[in-house]
Amino acid sequence: AARVQPPSPRSQAPPHASSPAGQRPTAAEAASGHGDRFTGHMFSIEYEPGAGWRRPELLPLGSVPLHPGTVGLHYGQAIFEGLKAFRQPDGSIAVFRPRDNARRFQRSAARLAMPPLPEAMFLDAIERLVAADASALPADPAQSLYLRPLMFATDTNLMLKPSERYRFLLMAFVAGGFFGAGVDAISVRVNHNHARAMPGGTGDVKIAGNYAPTFPAQIEAERAGCQQVLWLDSTENRWIEEMSGMNLFLVAGRGHRTEIVTSPLTGTLLPGVTRDTVLRLAARLGYGVREERIALSQWRDGSGPGGRFTEAFACGTAAVITSVRDVRDAGGDWIIGDGQPGPVTTTLRKALTNVQRGRVPDTEGWLHPV
Ligand code: PMP
Repeated sequence: AARVQPPSPRSQAPPHASSPAGQRPTAAEAASGHGDRFTGHMFSIEYEPGAGWRRPELLPLGSVPLHPGTVGLHYGQAIFEGLKAFRQPDGSIAVFRPRDNARRFQRSAARLAMPPLPEAMFLDAIERLVAADASALPADPAQSLYLRPLMFATDTNLMLKPSERYRFLLMAFVAGGFFGAGVDAISVRVNHNHARAMPGGTGDVKIAGNYAPTFPAQIEAERAGCQQVLWLDSTENRWIEEMSGMNLFLVAGRGHRTEIVTSPLTGTLLPGVTRDTVLRLAARLGYGVREERIALSQWRDGSGPGGRFTEAFACGTAAVITSVRDVRDAGGDWIIGDGQPGPVTTTLRKALTNVQRGRVPDTEGWLHPV
C-alpha cells in the first residue's frame, strides 16, 4: 500500500515509556499485502431506470471506463461492503454471514438514495465470483478471501441530484492478517481533532464518504507510532465509539464475573457483523455481555491494577479480533493489562476463527457454502 505521506521523524512522536514510536510497523507497512492480491474476476450488475437491476455477469477483473462526469466520483454516491470466504476442513469454501452484509448494503444504499440490490442478487454474485476464483484461496488457514461489493452512481449529469443509473461491482482479494504477520496487539491513538460521525449523519452505514475523512487522523496516529485511531462521540467528545474500520470491545471484571463491553449502536458507529458475532459467541461461552457507553476517562481510570477493565480488543472482518496493547491520549497514555493479548481476547479470537473455518458446528447458520 502506498503511503499517503512520508514517515515523520521520530522526534515528533510523544514520549511513551514502553513502546517508542517507530519500532513496530505502522498500519500502512503492516497491512501492505492487504488489499492488493486481487483475484482474476469481478462480478458486475447494472441498474437502469425502468429496467431495474440487469445484466449480471462474471467478467475478467479489469479497468472500468468512466466518463469524467460520473456522479459517484463527484458527489460520493458510493457504498461498499467487506466480508470474507474461508476454506473449510473438507476443502470447500464458505462465506461468513453474507446475508448480514447484503442487508447492511441495502441500508447504506437507502441512506444515499440509491436503489437496494436484492439480497438474492448479492448472494448470487458472491457465489459466482467465489466459485470462479476458488483456486486463488490457498489452504493456509492464515489466509482468507476478502470480498468487496461496491456500488456507485453512474449518471453523467452533474445536476446535484441522485443518479438514475448505478453499477454494482464485486471483487475479491486474498487476505492474510490485516496488521501483518507478527502483530498480535495494536496501539491506538485517541482522536480529538476531527469527527468521524455525528447524530443524524452516516456513521452507521458503510458509505465511501466515511473513510477518506479519517485519513488525516490515521496519519497523525501513525506519526505517534499507533496503528489505529479511536473515535469518541463527536457531541461530547467523551464516549468511546469505534476505530476507523473496526469496532471496539473492553473486557471488564474477573473470574466468573468477566464480561465484555462495547458501545451500544448509537447511530454514529457501524453495526459490525463481527461485533454481533462476538456478542453472541461471548454469551455462549458464559461471559457477561453489555452494550454500554464507556467514557474515555472511565476506561483510563479503570485500567490500573485491580481496576474494572482488564483487556481490550478491536474486531472486524479485516481485523478479526486484535488485542489492544495501549492507548495514547493527550490526557495521558496507558497500557492495557500487561500489553499482551489477554485470555478473554484469545479465547474469543479462537472461537471466532473456529466458526469461520468450520472447525466447530455452525449452530447459528453463519456459514454460507459456495
Ligand atoms: N466499523 C467500521 C467503521 C468499519 O468500516 C468496519 C468494517 N466494515 C467495522 C466497524 C467492522 O464491521 P464488520 O465486522 O462488519 O467488518
